[in-house]
Amino acid sequence: MPSSHAMLRFLGVIGYPLARSLSPAIQQAALDHARLDIEYQAWPTPPEGLQTRVSGLRGESVLGANVTIPHKEAVLPMMDEVDAITARVGAVNTIVNRARRLHGYNTDVGGFVRALAEDAQFKPGGRRVVIAGAGGAARAVVVALLEAKAGAITVINRTLSRANRLVEDLRPFARGSELRALPEMYASWAAVMGSCHLLVNCTSVGAADFEEKSAVPADLIRSSMLVYDLVYHPAETALMKAARERGAGVIGGLAMLVYQGAASFELWTGQQAPVDVMFGAAREALEAGVARGR
Ligand code: NAP
Repeated sequence: MPSSHAMLRFLGVIGYPLARSLSPAIQQAALDHARLDIEYQAWPTPPEGLQTRVSGLRGESVLGANVTIPHKEAVLPMMDEVDAITARVGAVNTIVNRARRLHGYNTDVGGFVRALAEDAQFKPGGRRVVIAGAGGAARAVVVALLEAKAGAITVINRTLSRANRLVEDLRPFARGSELRALPEMYASWAAVMGSCHLLVNCTSVGAADFEEKSAVPADLIRSSMLVYDLVYHPAETALMKAARERGAGVIGGLAMLVYQGAASFELWTGQQAPVDVMFGAAREALEAGVARGR
């Protein structure tokens, strides 16, 4: 725990609503473990209060913030500086206050890649990938996979226009990778799953609110695939269960959640994040019923 309030500094998460965000639990555990005199708060912010909230981050006692649903895109033009990858994703999830200048980052990209490498030993270079979903998380995942030179990426989404937009926005960065969008129907899945090495669920289907549904037809999952579900609550989604039963490799969303948080911690503090402590805090918060959002 912070020893004195004289030097107390602040971090927080900006979103709306925020009732079930895991970030305060994960980050405070890490800050306390590192014996830093920093308090991490929940800053629920409706859209009309966003500009004022972000301006407040320039205060001397504020190190920065996390940003979550629904503000990740809206804060981007409020930044003084944004790195190239973050601009490409079009969404900021971490803000750092450096001498009153706000720097925006997207640590979901690195969090996804780190989980893939460390928890599944999967190298995307040249591999065929299928993405379910075309929202903010899918954009971060596609940017990461293009950087890693995946061979082919197919985006399948309920709203085809959104998948088309994602593909068109990111095509300039595709270089040697094939990148295309397909409508969400059985025939689309059937066309791509046979040759797929990595399947990533970037939809919220399977999350606690509609738990029993799988985002992808389970009968098309093959044992040679790695199935990566970004949903982290429940710990095993219907898709993950089907994949495990069919002998596929499986990875859930918790590792990405912790690694994106670890990257944020490192940007704010300059110290290596205690990821084991953060995993423990995340699991504890999930068991205590903090279920959704970040
Ligand atoms: P988002 O921008 O709101 O996108 C939601 C996506 O889910 C869209 O593709 C949407 O399709 C699809 N979808 C929602 N309900 C659906 C349904 N009933 N049937 C079919 N598709 C449906 O959300 P996001 O920020 O990308 O997040 C998506 C998921 O990833 C969430 O569960 C989030 O918690 C998780 N996530 C996890 C991490 C992590 O660190 N593990 C990081 C980021 C996000 P339409 O376009 O057709 O609406």
